[in-house]
Amino acid sequence: MVLPGEGAIRKDSNTRSRLRSAGVMGQDGLMQQIPSIAEDTVSLLRDLIRIDTSNDGSPDGPGEILAAEYVVQCLQEVGYDPELITTTSGRRASVALRIPGTDPSRSALLLHGHLDVVPAVASDWSVPPFAAEVIDEMVWGRGAVDMKDMDSMILAVIRSWAIEGYRPPRDVVVLFTPDEEAGGRHGAHWLINNRPDLFSGVTEAVGEVGGFSLTVREDLRLYLIQTAEKGIAWMRLTSHGRAGHGSMLNDANAVTTLAQAMGRIGAYRSDVSLGPTAQRLLSELCEAYGIELEGNDIDQVMSKLGPIARFIGSGMRNTLNPSMLDAGYKVNVIPEHATGHVDGRFVPGGRDDLIATARRLAGADVEIEVLTDDVALDVPFEGPTIESMRAALLSEDPHAHAIPYLMSGGTDAKAFSRLGITGYGFAPLRLPPDLDFASLFHGIDERVPVSALRFGVTVLDRFLRTC
Ligand SMILES: [Zn+2]
Repeated sequence: MVLPGEGAIRKDSNTRSRLRSAGVMGQDGLMQQIPSIAEDTVSLLRDLIRIDTSNDGSPDGPGEILAAEYVVQCLQEVGYDPELITTTSGRRASVALRIPGTDPSRSALLLHGHLDVVPAVASDWSVPPFAAEVIDEMVWGRGAVDMKDMDSMILAVIRSWAIEGYRPPRDVVVLFTPDEEAGGRHGAHWLINNRPDLFSGVTEAVGEVGGFSLTVREDLRLYLIQTAEKGIAWMRLTSHGRAGHGSMLNDANAVTTLAQAMGRIGAYRSDVSLGPTAQRLLSELCEAYGIELEGNDIDQVMSKLGPIARFIGSGMRNTLNPSMLDAGYKVNVIPEHATGHVDGRFVPGGRDDLIATARRLAGADVEIEVLTDDVALDVPFEGPTIESMRAALLSEDPHAHAIPYLMSGGTDAKAFSRLGITGYGFAPLRLPPDLDFASLFHGIDERVPVSALRFGVTVLDRFLRTC
């Protein structure tokens, strides 16, 4: 732990050449100046994208260690003394830093970002996914919106604080995690289990995925702050049948049984189910678009939203999506077993119903195991922290209107909630109205506008100074 501008002076700062030319170095080897917080954000983001941290879900993972070491260096060169923490292997690493606030009587805020990304198939992309090219005023590459953009904004803000000698009002615990994209077993959940000391005094957390804009019209932009997320029930389905020669009659074919179960599950559509956040979101959307809602007909609202509807609409009902199949080993051999995986997501309060539905649809001949089972979250959209977010957005965009939303995916906030920490998704970005933001998450040609980063880092800085 170190106060910005004090202590832990590194005389032999191994500063990157980029920063040698961009920043001004003092006699003590620390950076004294950064060109601008926005330029620093873009530069940090490009460096982070170039460090391939693809997480394919295997235990040894991508090796976030290189990105973690890079983050440590970025913090050390402005005088911080961060801690590098390896988790389940020497290649899975986290970085933690506590910046003491001016009012020790206040609770601490956790500011978190994950360092891993989902894999990218280079041949699908218009540009190499780990080259971090800047084209058409956008930074392109895997992680540009999920979530090396926010990682870079966090780093740029706190680096500027160190150089300025600024201390925030309350303790800010900065945490970069590995393994978020595979559920956080080697990341956030490991840290909660093994390093609860990092979270001492923390009551609230800010991370992905929220704070981005949705343009209704020129004088109204909604900013969707994440106050809820769906729970996760990832299931493995196994059918058992009678093995045999592929040329004979077989009325207990495991492949057929599983395929029928998967077909029923894939075709299933659950009823709409609205918790507090989803209810509020829906009424805000109706008001913004001038819609009189008939019953729970959310499609009426979603049809106004464009591509982002996929992101939002799926947060209002349970979903079951078959995503993997594995059966057989030769065309003329009927196997004894067939297995498949289903990605189940439930709305707050909807877990038991989702699992019961999956079992009913699968039928008696298919066994279901829930391999990953993680909570849904829903916190109130009110209080001083929300007010600070709202004010920070308004200061940079007079047409901003902050609303809560429920995200269909999951984040590290689930792990932190186990310590009673209230989580918000607030990685502010003012987006061009025509950008299909939802498709960029885990998508091809992931990219982020430089102008959105400039906006985001300014809003994040202001929010953290006032929350
Ligand atoms: Zn993410």
